[in-house]
Amino acid sequence: MIKKVLIANRGEIALRILRACKELGIRTVAVHSRVDRDLMHVRLADESVCIGPDSASDSYLNIPAIISAAELTDADAIHPGYGFLAENADFAEQVEKSGFHFIGPSPTFIRLMGNKVSAIRAMIRAGVPTVPGSNGPLTEDDNRTLQVARDIGYPVLIKAASGGGGRGMQVVHNEHALLKAVQVTQREAGSVFGDETVYLEKYLERPRHVEVQVLADSHGNVIHLGDRDCSLQRRHQKILEEAPAPNIDPDARQVVLDACVKACKELGYESAGTFEFLYENGEFFFIEMNTRVQVEHPISEMVTGVDIVKEQLRIASGEKLRYRQEDIKITGHAVECRINAEDAKTFIPSPGRVERFHPPGGNGVRVDSHLYSGYNVPPFYDSMVAKLITWGDDRETAMARMRNALDELVIVGIKTNASLHHRLVRDPGFLNCAFSIHYLEQLMRE
Ligand code: ADP
Repeated sequence: MIKKVLIANRGEIALRILRACKELGIRTVAVHSRVDRDLMHVRLADESVCIGPDSASDSYLNIPAIISAAELTDADAIHPGYGFLAENADFAEQVEKSGFHFIGPSPTFIRLMGNKVSAIRAMIRAGVPTVPGSNGPLTEDDNRTLQVARDIGYPVLIKAASGGGGRGMQVVHNEHALLKAVQVTQREAGSVFGDETVYLEKYLERPRHVEVQVLADSHGNVIHLGDRDCSLQRRHQKILEEAPAPNIDPDARQVVLDACVKACKELGYESAGTFEFLYENGEFFFIEMNTRVQVEHPISEMVTGVDIVKEQLRIASGEKLRYRQEDIKITGHAVECRINAEDAKTFIPSPGRVERFHPPGGNGVRVDSHLYSGYNVPPFYDSMVAKLITWGDDRETAMARMRNALDELVIVGIKTNASLHHRLVRDPGFLNCAFSIHYLEQLMRE
């Protein structure tokens, strides 16, 4: 078993990983930037190392500093959390070459899924349904590009193979605009991601974002933990998620869950992972795979009782999964609201000192947050400061508990987007499941 884990992250996820390690009797090393020495998990870790100045590129993205910290503290594994270096194949490779376990899949797999074109091709081979498209990079042959788009039918979406964070995408509504848009997206992809490769897929007009959580060990055992709906997004960033995804065709769901498990087996996946799909008119279409733990993993934990981070640690230690698929029962419903330090209307970040923090409580309420009264939210990193998660034996109860939880939450000193969540969990369209990935932005425009 792994004995000491270096947590290469910050904020709530660092605390989440620390708690899982402590439960398993694993010692912990926190690494942090200068400004982050007062983070909750730094105080609770067995050891801590300052790895650089405030900017993320000098600290949480500083690979040599992180590996040196692991050597210095004699850690035997590194957990990357999400964001920062979590999906950086070079980092995973250097971690392993330096003799540490990387808590995640192999660098080869991260690389395969990090390129959307190779990911889509792998999924097609493994029998996972994908969005109709070019199924490969667009070439210099303009006639072929025009033909592909004609075959798919407009509107189409041009996407950067190395894109991420919702960037490097462009919708095209007709043939006149296509070739110009391809050029623009290629140039943008080249400058932002260092890779001009773009591909084409059908632009779905009112889909939902539905994703499947999987766990795979190094012995070829794979299970899924059901699905999540993450349709409520702003600029492709998720704001509120729920599990299971409501109102899904049961047959289509079973087919896609089975396909994800089969794909992991065929491709030799290991660790926790997420298959992201668009869901429209009863059909699933794969868009990408995340080879790491996700922000919204707690809602799957709440409905299955499985601790995903502990399983990641066990898998990295070479243990076999302790669950078979038939052990996994989806019980009740869970919701998560991401509380960001930002203005609820303008979305301008609002760092600063938290004068008072009072988390909600009660039956079925979970708060994953690194906040405490007196904590200073620094301006350098992601603005998410808390995740409110509620569970209930049905969707209505989970939502009622979320309304209570939001009412009880007190964060004084910084602005947060809590009022947006207050509105969402009372919104008739949302409560009736009449939403798509565009719903939140439409609501905000109104
Ligand atoms: P990223 O890696 O940048 O997050 P994704 O491929 O996961 O990119 O897409 C991000 C979001 O963009 C999706 O959640 C969805 O809202 C939208 N999107 C992506 N592909 C399509 C598509 N073919 N049709 C409509 N919307 C899409």
